[in-house]
Amino acid sequence: MPTIDAERVLRDLRHLRTMGAFKTGVHRPALSAEHLASMAWLKGELEALGHQTTIDGIGNVFGIAPVNGRKLLGGSHLESQNYAGWLDGPLGVVYALEAARAVKADSALAGCGVDVVAWCDEEGHFGHFLGSRSGIGQVSESDIDAAVDRTSGTTMREALKAAGLDGRPRVTVDAKRYVGFLEAHIEQGDWLEANKLKVGVVTAIVGSRNFNITFEGVQNHAGTTRMAIRRDAGVACARLVMAIEKLFPTICGPRTVWTTGRVTLSPGDPSIIPGRAEMLFQFRDTDADLLDRLEVALRGLVEDANREGPCTVVLEQNRKGMPAAMAESFQVAVETSAEARSPGRYTRMPSGAGHDAQILAAVMPAGMMFVPSIGGISHHWSENTSDEDIVLGAQVYADAVGRLLQG
Ligand SMILES: [Zn+2]
Repeated sequence: MPTIDAERVLRDLRHLRTMGAFKTGVHRPALSAEHLASMAWLKGELEALGHQTTIDGIGNVFGIAPVNGRKLLGGSHLESQNYAGWLDGPLGVVYALEAARAVKADSALAGCGVDVVAWCDEEGHFGHFLGSRSGIGQVSESDIDAAVDRTSGTTMREALKAAGLDGRPRVTVDAKRYVGFLEAHIEQGDWLEANKLKVGVVTAIVGSRNFNITFEGVQNHAGTTRMAIRRDAGVACARLVMAIEKLFPTICGPRTVWTTGRVTLSPGDPSIIPGRAEMLFQFRDTDADLLDRLEVALRGLVEDANREGPCTVVLEQNRKGMPAAMAESFQVAVETSAEARSPGRYTRMPSGAGHDAQILAAVMPAGMMFVPSIGGISHHWSENTSDEDIVLGAQVYADAVGRLLQG
């Protein structure tokens, strides 16, 4: 099996942490100066390894191994959420980089190679998985024209221009080149830690359905309007939230999650009955049929609300993300490697968060592995994983890559 250099893995991750350092985490939004510095660093490391490197027209970094045998694509992302953690993304990039080095040094794997990729903007500063979707040919030029940084308002075109990347071609991966794509990531939940496990073998990445639900009532004086004649959109909204809380547990799966992420009442004044309310609602699961059943149930509740009145309810579907199953061969490779390095301390589990691997799964076999997140915390600067778990994960990843390359 390819052998990693534990100190080098930790050194690389700590070095990336200096780019946009914020408390113990990083602030490294997509295409920021700090993100560009991390991309340049990765490019340099890949060149030093003898890979052919490119940073393409959407900011994806590729390092291509100059070999003729079996090849695997590995990686994750380098940008962070705003003022967030140091491992969400870089962990998977550094694991892939270290696996590429270890495979190159392993004579048993002569001719095989690991291509390394850092997908731009997995964290969605400008859009929805724009980097990896571009990498499989799913992003049009007009998608890029429309992309705007949700924090700064800078357009993606402006940001690419400032980065010197405008006008460069965008690379579409040649799926036939690879045995598949393997991504490592911190768990971002507490399942592994709570169960004293070291590795999560991801079975599938959840799909989600997102809805915008609006309630139309009648805006009126909160002091003079009798309760009996009110058409209070706020109450109608609260009723629907509670009806969902009652119905969904009777049809959901063991890991289904649903969230009312925002409620807005208009005009939003203590002395005015809300004439309009709006809620953003989302549910997630790995089972596409179950997602369909939940949607039918939600539509039924909206119909009930319209029939019963007194407000009208309109349900609009926003984004629909399909669940993505991870390839069985990849699950077996990660599981076998975890058993060898940390007997009994791994589990198969779904990913409740979205990842680039779900995009790649559309064009090639894809797999994911998790390492524990201390306290289950992520998307926060205090996000962390013990050095011991980081190093163990890197070796398990490299072993899995070795198994997949041997076929
Ligand atoms: Zn991530």
